[in-house]
Amino acid sequence: MKALIVHGPGELAWEEVPSPPLASAHSALVRPIASASCDLDRRLIAGVTPFKPPFALGHECVAEVLEVGDEVGTVRRGDLVSVPWKIACGECPQCHAGRATACTSVPRHAAYGVPAGGHWGGLFSEVVHVPFADAMLVPLPPGLNPLAVASASDNLTDAWVATSRPIATRRDARVLVVGGTESLGVLAVQMAVAAGAASVDYLDDSDYRRDLALRSGANVELGQTLDERYDVVVSATRDPQALYRGLLALAPGGHCSCIGIIFDDPKIPLFGMYLRDVTLSVGVCNVRPHIPKVFDLVGSGRCNPLLVSPTVVTCEEATEALVQPLAKCIVVRERIT
Ligand SMILES: [Zn+2]
Ligand SMILES: [Zn+2]
Repeated sequence: MKALIVHGPGELAWEEVPSPPLASAHSALVRPIASASCDLDRRLIAGVTPFKPPFALGHECVAEVLEVGDEVGTVRRGDLVSVPWKIACGECPQCHAGRATACTSVPRHAAYGVPAGGHWGGLFSEVVHVPFADAMLVPLPPGLNPLAVASASDNLTDAWVATSRPIATRRDARVLVVGGTESLGVLAVQMAVAAGAASVDYLDDSDYRRDLALRSGANVELGQTLDERYDVVVSATRDPQALYRGLLALAPGGHCSCIGIIFDDPKIPLFGMYLRDVTLSVGVCNVRPHIPKVFDLVGSGRCNPLLVSPTVVTCEEATEALVQPLAKCIVVRERIT
């Protein structure tokens, strides 16, 4: 079978690799039919992350179930499913505590498409092994467009969790989204609107993304001073200075969700944050429990992820499309409309 392999900085190619076996009674084999690029992927391809090639790329997709083990009860052959980015058993104490991201049944950081906790394959591949099918896979409701939820595996659900949690505990929340990565900021705008924010402002240097944010319901004409104006800040940027500005924009009691991955240790205005009694949350998203809600939001039209993923390409076109600037694109293996 073919897998999309990162070999070195800028070197991306389809390669013939052994097809994974159905490893246990709890496993499934799936065939990705609509795979989205995560905002991290272009940096993984460019070689500017701590993760060293070679590795199979991809950790967002909707897939068709090809085969399931005897003990699998929630999905069967032919089902369309969302495949979460994180490998997790659903049974260990960490999984039971809602921290599938720290599952102890697999190496720490075991995930698709990132060689952080071993190699588990990539979700652009032709066939993918899912070791804990019941705990991981989420069947799509009938009629839901696979393209629109291809990113539910990571970015789309991350945007929902990062915005909806702090908004839920703050009345008439004023929200600032600091954009900067391909899709997360604009998705966070859509999710903040869906979660009932009183207002959503969007800060970004990119005219292209500012236009998408405007079309998603944000105000993009911001004044010079943002300090202490917002109950919730979602930082979807890789720019440490933009994160810093976002933290200063928090009102007393505010919450900042930092979802743009910054690999080094940026300066944080800690004392100013202390005086305002604000919270900074940062971390990978435990997506699995939230994917059904995201399906609901997309199915009911309360968010439109395709606005940030306008490029749909075939596998042959993927190697070129995935390195384009600004692109969050979707690679399809079947002709999907
Ligand atoms: Zn990701
Ligand atoms: Zn576990």
